[in-house]
Amino acid sequence: MRIVNSAGRASVLTDDGLVDIESASGGAFSADPQALFDRWDDLRVWAAAHRGGATAPFEEDRLKAPVPRPRQVFAIGLNYRDHAAESGMALPDTPVVFTKFPACITGPCAAVDLPPGSVDFETELVVVLGRDAHRTPASRAWEHVAGLTVGQDLSERQLQLKPPVPQFSLGKSYPGFAPMGPALVTPDEFPDRDDIVLGCRLNGEQMQNSRTSEMVFPVADLIAYLSSIVPLYAGDVIFTGTPAGIGMARDPARFLRPGDELVTTAEAIGSMRTTFVSTP
Ligand code: ZN
Repeated sequence: MRIVNSAGRASVLTDDGLVDIESASGGAFSADPQALFDRWDDLRVWAAAHRGGATAPFEEDRLKAPVPRPRQVFAIGLNYRDHAAESGMALPDTPVVFTKFPACITGPCAAVDLPPGSVDFETELVVVLGRDAHRTPASRAWEHVAGLTVGQDLSERQLQLKPPVPQFSLGKSYPGFAPMGPALVTPDEFPDRDDIVLGCRLNGEQMQNSRTSEMVFPVADLIAYLSSIVPLYAGDVIFTGTPAGIGMARDPARFLRPGDELVTTAEAIGSMRTTFVSTP
């Protein structure tokens, strides 16, 4: 199943177009995309039995973030070997965790205003919880996943790395710094949910290209580790780390500029198109 947020309304994306979930369910489910995760198991049962056709055409430029208001946003650093190497860091023996404050979430076709500094891109698989998880073992972690989407962990490097103590969470939370989409895709839609090709192109040039099987800590291990400490709620999201190819690690460094277009793609999920502007 593929779920999108079309102009604020939760919809199932089919080959024929959109099925508006509130109207197709006779009001049994809310139109609010965030509310779906509180009743995710019920939604799966309803969707499996629903036989109605599409009710609206699919229009890409109406898409908003499939998870617009998670209570918690976790993000993972140094989770790909090649990215740790390009950052000059040793591989961690437990996940490196920070947050992106939820105010920075935006949709898959956003224009993001560049703050002063050095804004970088980080293509990431984004995991969305469909059930609460607390002290959940890795062997049961996927049972708590509603689906997967792709995102950018946009990062202003000067604030992120400013001495005396790095400010990862602030430097990664300017408005629009967490674009995600275009769709939330359930794990059964992937040939292998632990081996998903993902990457990004900047003005047409391939900058990142990897697969999630290269993660140091795969999705199930991240859920087990996070939930061993913090209760996770249905509707929470986890940015799972970025592979090599970020702008800061290039020679010369390549940070985002007004007028840039960043296309972020993941296998079986689709592509986001993020543009960058500078408002004086
Ligand atoms: Zn990141």
